Amino acid sequence: MALRRALHALGFRCRVDLPLPGLHRRRSDLAFVRWRTVVFVQGCFWHACPEHPHAPVHNGEWWREKLGGNVRRYADTAAHLVRLGWVPLRICEHETVDVAVGKVLEALARRGHPRTLRILSGVG
Ligand SMILES: [Zn+2]
Repeated sequence: MALRRALHALGFRCRVDLPLPGLHRRRSDLAFVRWRTVVFVQGCFWHACPEHPHAPVHNGEWWREKLGGNVRRYADTAAHLVRLGWVPLRICEHETVDVAVGKVLEALARRGHPRTLRILSGVG
């Protein structure tokens, strides 16, 4: 995944497909376990991205139900993680790698990750 490669190039190590604590059969795409930050990269279509709404014409009702289920499931997962003290971060597939990296760095910076603080302040 491009985001993971970009983070890796900046010296960030993360786990891929981490099973989420207390959630049956749910995994994060990227996880910074030590910093309790997890990243979910979501498809515009599958997660009903508000910037790219495309409602299928055929079987409209079925799709609304299906996509609505994905959205609720993410909200539920994110709320659960927050209760456990984790930071869930959602990145949409339409976002560029630079934007995505920026979001991840900001989230890690809020957690006090020393390397992000150096990068974001331009020191190294
Ligand atoms: Zn999108």
